[in-house]
Amino acid sequence: MQNFKDIEKLSIKLNDTCNAAGITRVLEETFSAVNIYIYDFTSETLRDFSKSWISIDEFGNKEKTKKLYKIFEDLKNNNYTLHDNRLYYALYEGQKLIGMLEFAQSLNTQTLEFLKVASYLVSLKIQNVILSDRMQKNIDFHDAMKNIAKIIETQYETSYIIPIIGEMIDKFVCEHLIYIFINNKLVWPCACKDEKIFELLKCLNNKSEYILTPDKKIGLFPLISENKLIGCIVTKSTDNILSEKEISYLEQLTNQAATTINRANVYAEILKHATLDALTGFYNRRQLEERIKQEVSSAKRQKRNLCAIMTDIDYFKNVNDTYGHAAGDLVLKTVSGVIKHQLRDYDIAGRYGGEEFAIILPYTKIEEAQMVAQRLRRAVEKTKIDISKVNADVNEKLIGVTISLGISEYKNGDNEKILLQKADKALYTAKENGRNRAEVYEEVSTNLS
Ligand code: GH3
Ligand code: MG
Ligand code: MG
Repeated sequence: MQNFKDIEKLSIKLNDTCNAAGITRVLEETFSAVNIYIYDFTSETLRDFSKSWISIDEFGNKEKTKKLYKIFEDLKNNNYTLHDNRLYYALYEGQKLIGMLEFAQSLNTQTLEFLKVASYLVSLKIQNVILSDRMQKNIDFHDAMKNIAKIIETQYETSYIIPIIGEMIDKFVCEHLIYIFINNKLVWPCACKDEKIFELLKCLNNKSEYILTPDKKIGLFPLISENKLIGCIVTKSTDNILSEKEISYLEQLTNQAATTINRANVYAEILKHATLDALTGFYNRRQLEERIKQEVSSAKRQKRNLCAIMTDIDYFKNVNDTYGHAAGDLVLKTVSGVIKHQLRDYDIAGRYGGEEFAIILPYTKIEEAQMVAQRLRRAVEKTKIDISKVNADVNEKLIGVTISLGISEYKNGDNEKILLQKADKALYTAKENGRNRAEVYEEVSTNLS
């Protein structure tokens, strides 16, 4: 009999692994070639543990599938059995048969003795891996659901929401390509060449449930909200089928996504007529343009000074990419708060685009506007933002960002558009000159029409 040392060696090796590939490798090293089949009590199928948990029912060879089920039955009475010169050894959880190891050849008595103990270790390790995989999937899933729900609170532009939903689902069903269609048009990612998908999309209506192709490699999950079919999330794989668990997750995720997108549409409609930006509390773009128009026309009438500042957060995409969108939102909120704090009551600030703000300074000469811009720049530079509030995964708690600013002065004859365009040009120069700085629009350098 192999001695205690071998068992100890196997135990240490198994301890160092944390996934199916690791366990398979250890078993290959210890016993040469082996396959691991585990019985999935939920779907009542035997699955290949080493090959992405694929059900043996999906094997092309029906004879082989039948044979494996028969052997599994046999193992309910014996620890091992021999078939076509291959040895099958039972894996137990307590008294319950949960799977089997398949060896490419028959084994000698010594190895069989060794397996008596070793199979328990292997079985235990496999169960641990399956359990922790399931738990991780559940955690990821709940995170995804929570995130999608959260987007509703702050975002109303579908062009912004859809990539977030896409990326989240993509991360979640990582072995499949994800496509999002809204009103039969592909909106994420940018290309889909599979004609079959377009054909299948035509079958959907507002009462549709999910559709799977017979080979289970393409799945269509309709986005239906308030009895309206608004779109569809499609998964596609060349090698992997969708598992029942993934289907159930995807159904729930698409439900949540449909609600989010639908609400965003409704919200956007309402906000078109509202004045404030939900995230920053600043004027939204429409209202901002309205207010600038008024200010420009009264500056013209009363011949008073007026300046505009355009500002944009530097490398903001990095914040989203590194710390997540929730952290990005918090940064936006904080920066807008800092800006607001620095302004006078009658100054006007609005969210011009994603992370761009426009500021109008009535009764202000260009020199004063430069001072304001520098004050804003320094105040933002000094601010540290605690993102651990929205992202518990990050080690760093405090992060900082900088802003670049472009300043323009109202000249008689300018309209509101030109005033902002000039500030935007100057902002561009500030970016070009290294960021975290303010530049004044130079009248001679550019020709605006
Ligand atoms: P630069 O210094 O040149 O301005 O670099 P940047 O990365 O800031 O510029 P870019 O315009 O490429 O990136 C802006 C990013 O802002 C991209 C977009 O995903 C993000 N964004 C826009 N609106 C929002 C929002 O409401 N929330 C969050 N979290 N991100 C947003
Ligand atoms: Mg930026
Ligand atoms: Mg920008």
